[in-house]
Amino acid sequence: MPLDIRLVPMFDDNYGFLIHDPQTGETAVVDPGQPGPIIAALDALGWSLGLILNTHHHQDHVGGNQALKARYGAQVVGPAADVDRIPGIDRGVSEGDLVNIGTHSAWVLEVHGHTRAHIAYWFSSDAAVFCGDTLFALGCGRLFEGTAEDMWLSLQKLRALPPETKVYCAHEYTESNCRFALTVEGQNHTLRARAEAIAAARSKNIPTVPSTIALERATNPFLRADVSEFLVATGLAGRPAVEAFAEIRRRKDIFK
Ligand code: ZN
Ligand code: FE
Repeated sequence: MPLDIRLVPMFDDNYGFLIHDPQTGETAVVDPGQPGPIIAALDALGWSLGLILNTHHHQDHVGGNQALKARYGAQVVGPAADVDRIPGIDRGVSEGDLVNIGTHSAWVLEVHGHTRAHIAYWFSSDAAVFCGDTLFALGCGRLFEGTAEDMWLSLQKLRALPPETKVYCAHEYTESNCRFALTVEGQNHTLRARAEAIAAARSKNIPTVPSTIALERATNPFLRADVSEFLVATGLAGRPAVEAFAEIRRRKDIFK
């Protein structure tokens, strides 16, 4: 039976996610920035919580750890390289480790750049990746602790996942990311069609998460730094991919 995955909106624009194995009843939460909305969602569904999966140490992703751990006795899993900054952590994981939820398992991918120890959880048989603040719908995380090279490597790793993989990113930043993407590659027809779909969804307050790796590959400017038509369109033809990526990231940083 496939995993049952639910979005839980928190704060202004964060998403936590509940991941439930209907066969065993086991449930995990990804990036609970605050406990209240997670508890309310679990109550409404009649689920208990066994696992807390963190992608990185930022407060809007770990702020609910301690309260949820105390309430449910859940085990906290997070990046091994950042155990000092993950509240309540029980198990540190790194590249290639497996995390099990009932009969399902996720591979841990190291995707540094936003922070120096950021991980993603990839459920290969469920075609889903939980990538925190690394890859966003039409965007990528800011470079707070890592370099452009770190982030470009991380994005290439996520981009290489099977195209049908659903991308569960941790923020609803899609509309503003889309405005920026149109300024860099406005002639991309797939992007323009996507922009219309995003505007329609957001006008009804429908989440744009998850997207897919295929759609991100075709439209996300941060995944296209080595695609020749993108480089021509952005005036970056001939530039090494990591330099082109860094330049697009800089443009986004100053975009209003
Ligand atoms: Zn963050
Ligand atoms: Fe965040």
